[in-house]
Amino acid sequence: MHEFGLCEGVLEAVRRRAAGRKVSAIRVRFGVRHAVDAESLSQAFSMVAEGTEAAGAAVDLVTVPARVTCRGCGYSGQTTDPLAICPRCGSADAEITGGDEMVLESISYASADRGPVP
Ligand SMILES: [Zn+2]
Repeated sequence: MHEFGLCEGVLEAVRRRAAGRKVSAIRVRFGVRHAVDAESLSQAFSMVAEGTEAAGAAVDLVTVPARVTCRGCGYSGQTTDPLAICPRCGSADAEITGGDEMVLESISYASADRGPVP
């Protein structure tokens, strides 16, 4: 399950931003080429986050599509399939670009630890 390796990176980013605040939820964006499974990701995250301020945080996964350009038929478009296959003609002679991002989009903090609201 490669999600563990990814989660260690995510957790590091979360902890840096949380700076000790209790985290209730995070939203991450993964390019489709990481082939991340939402359920495996949240399981792996809860394991790596155990004992930290992000323990028990809900993980919201947003999958970012990649762009596929076919050398055979010239098709160009977005794909959420991590395999480099043209959706129009089925050719494997297609180039996938993008879809490799890994971004911590937002963090929600537990309300009890929220500072005074202005
Ligand atoms: Zn094609």
